[in-house]
Amino acid sequence: MEFLPLFFDLKESTALVFGASDAAARKVEVLLKAKCRVSLVAETLNKSLNEHLDSPLFKHYSNVDDGLWAAAHIVVAATDDASVDERISDTAKAKKLPVNVVNRADLSNFVFPSIIDRSPIIAAVSSSGELPVLTRLLRNRLEATIPHAFGRLAIIARKYRTEVKQQITAINTRRNFWESVLEGRFADLVFSGQEEAAENELREKLDQQLSNKNQVEGEVYLVGAGPGDPDLLTFKALRLIRQADVVLYDRLVSEPILALVRQDAEKINVGKERANHLVPQESINSLLVKYAKEGKRVLRLKGGDPFIFGRGGEEIETLAEEGVTFQVVPGITAASGCAAYSGIPLTHRDYSQSVRFITGHLKNNTCDLPWEEFVHENQTLVFYMGLTGLPTICQSLTDHGMDTDKPIALISKGTTRDQKVLVGTLSNISEMAVQAKVNAPTLIIIGDVVNLREKLQWFS
Ligand code: SAH
Repeated sequence: MEFLPLFFDLKESTALVFGASDAAARKVEVLLKAKCRVSLVAETLNKSLNEHLDSPLFKHYSNVDDGLWAAAHIVVAATDDASVDERISDTAKAKKLPVNVVNRADLSNFVFPSIIDRSPIIAAVSSSGELPVLTRLLRNRLEATIPHAFGRLAIIARKYRTEVKQQITAINTRRNFWESVLEGRFADLVFSGQEEAAENELREKLDQQLSNKNQVEGEVYLVGAGPGDPDLLTFKALRLIRQADVVLYDRLVSEPILALVRQDAEKINVGKERANHLVPQESINSLLVKYAKEGKRVLRLKGGDPFIFGRGGEEIETLAEEGVTFQVVPGITAASGCAAYSGIPLTHRDYSQSVRFITGHLKNNTCDLPWEEFVHENQTLVFYMGLTGLPTICQSLTDHGMDTDKPIALISKGTTRDQKVLVGTLSNISEMAVQAKVNAPTLIIIGDVVNLREKLQWFS
């Protein structure tokens, strides 16, 4: 190990920083964040350093003198001049001061890590100065997996530390208690900003533990998995996917997303093919209730967004009636995903001021939709579940006065590697779709914005 990671309290210390480079500015910024005093030595200040002049912790000097050296606790050199940096390093080492020379681990006896700041929880990553890009990549990964309110978890839990220690005296039991609390509903409530409810949950858990009831209560997560590309999951979706005990998913959830589910979790396919429901809706609702009442963390994973043609509302209605706790996580709906990945903006100041999401699942193939409302200039129409009814949709729109030349796009398997986009007009698209053997799931976008694809397509 070239460097030992240590966490220093620099509040009463002074850092002597040399240089006005961008690198110097970045170091000054973290030092000030740690409430360290900074004496910066440079002829002139750059723009970002100038902004620190208001801070009582920051002072600028044109030249270094013995007084500055004597007051320093740590030294940073970032002058952009190798020989000057080397001299600074030598002087600091002679004075037995810790020194960092930016991008020169060989001249440094400490290095700055990449920091994931969830104060009071802080994670630091370092490549010992070898390849800072790599540490940044790793930091990004950690940033994505550690919820933003992780620090709040520590702050709130800390308030109960003494009490828990007094009440649960056996170390192992106490550790198990904290583990279950910090990975359970308490944590979820903190992460979603419901701190009062979180504290109530913690108290309840403690009471249960003390009365030895320990009855576990399950919960349902109704989560939008987005249109297919796993990178379009939200951080919260990913976290809940990883912690679920049982997963009920449907046909639209892509393979790579299912692969994120824990190995030991039970996976149940309740997928719905058109007119071929593997599990009827009522049974899905009661399965969710059953598992939650058994104390399981149940993930109901849905394609796109659960509240957009996803029957999410119906499912949680049952949960609410049964008194089962649940949370809802939005996902990127097919319209947003397909629009972005096909280069068709749903609105555009020149072509469309509004957008409508419409179900194309026509009951008994009849046109029980308010077609006249759809025929407007400067409006984009998005039909979900419209592939089977495509000829009816095109016919009904033209019957109600829409131009037969109106551009229309069919986006199949949007956002995935198998995405296909077919562009035509209301008069020819049905025939084109048959020729091209377009498959479900397919989203339909109608409106002048479709023409922008020619210029804006980027994903193929
Ligand atoms: N809740 C989902 C929609 C469910 S309805 C959401 O918010 O996206 C199912 C319809 O969504 C499909 O018939 C299709 O029209 C559309 N759809 C879902 N995923 C899609 C994808 N990857 N590509 C194209 N259309 C998709």
